[in-house]
Amino acid sequence: MVWVINFAVKIINMPKNEKIFTDNYKIFLDSVDIPILILDKFDLKTVIYSNELIEKTFQIDKSQKNYTDFFLDENLIKHLSYHLFSFPLHQEIEIDERFFILKSTKIYDYIFLFFNDISLIKKNDMIKRRYVDSISHELKTPLTNILLYTEKLQNCLDESSKESLKVIYSNAQVLKKLIDDILVLSKLDSHELLITPSKIKLRAMIVDIMKELMPLADSNNVDIEILVPSDLEFYGDKKLLHRAFKNLIENGIKYNNSGGIVTIKGLLEKNTIAICIDDDGIGIEKKDITCLFNRFFRADEGRTKGNTKDGTGLGLSIVKNVINQHKGIIEVNSEPGKGSKFKIILPTVYS
Ligand code: ADP
Repeated sequence: MVWVINFAVKIINMPKNEKIFTDNYKIFLDSVDIPILILDKFDLKTVIYSNELIEKTFQIDKSQKNYTDFFLDENLIKHLSYHLFSFPLHQEIEIDERFFILKSTKIYDYIFLFFNDISLIKKNDMIKRRYVDSISHELKTPLTNILLYTEKLQNCLDESSKESLKVIYSNAQVLKKLIDDILVLSKLDSHELLITPSKIKLRAMIVDIMKELMPLADSNNVDIEILVPSDLEFYGDKKLLHRAFKNLIENGIKYNNSGGIVTIKGLLEKNTIAICIDDDGIGIEKKDITCLFNRFFRADEGRTKGNTKDGTGLGLSIVKNVINQHKGIIEVNSEPGKGSKFKIILPTVYS
């Protein structure tokens, strides 16, 4: 986008009364490889100039001055009418199975609209996702068999072999979790997993999660405390939020010390609900907090040794994705040796 900056600088440095769209500028605009449309800033309708790529990319009637007649595609006109008033504009739009990032900038009396074609990136993403999905599905069946037969062998072996079998079993479980996480993330990315909102009773959901995590909490000697009023209700996708909260509570148990505690609080604030999952465990170093939600990120192995062996590094990216899709936010506060606090704020009604 260096050319845009250069172009803007040239225009800004020009005397105000100089005509912007001299032939030189038109030649310049026609030579760039992004479709550009320039509208009058005041009426937001009159087409001042369109570069050659606009003509090649969209169906237009060049004799028309109003963009609603200039473009012949109803869908494109709808997008423009809907988004033109938001400023600065940065919106993904789909026109005839092609994808564009529509951006705008105001320069003097003009609005410049840039239609950045991202169809190829989208197509490549889809191919990659399908590829990852197929591999993951192919791996799932043999792994399920490994887990099944390992369970069966459990009772036919002597004590020392049982120990080896345990190692095989727990490693196979990590691989299965990794595959499940990859498949969920891939679905979330593709927006295939649409949010299905229904009424959620937060306390009941947290109690269910606690029951599922009790064996882990017992074996790590970590307590779980639930401070959620029983009448706290909101709307969201039950399955996805269950997964997200479970991941956070599970982390609070996994990255904790024996005798530690995980506290879950719920609070209604006007049109939002706040869910806090706090632990007094090993904590997270400042330098790691910014990468926490990156895929496959796991904090320094040395520091968390023994705790991270069954992790995939994908849990928190799923959490973030689920919260984003609910138009919520997630905040983290943590101090090494003192513990971590994860706060989620969600709208009470999903729209
Ligand atoms: P994992 O499967 O490794 O637990 P996550 O995405 O859930 O993956 O977490 C990423 C990393 O963030 C973990 O490996 C761990 O190092 C760190 N982490 C997450 N939650 C906590 C927590 N409550 N306390 C300390 N470290 C944490």
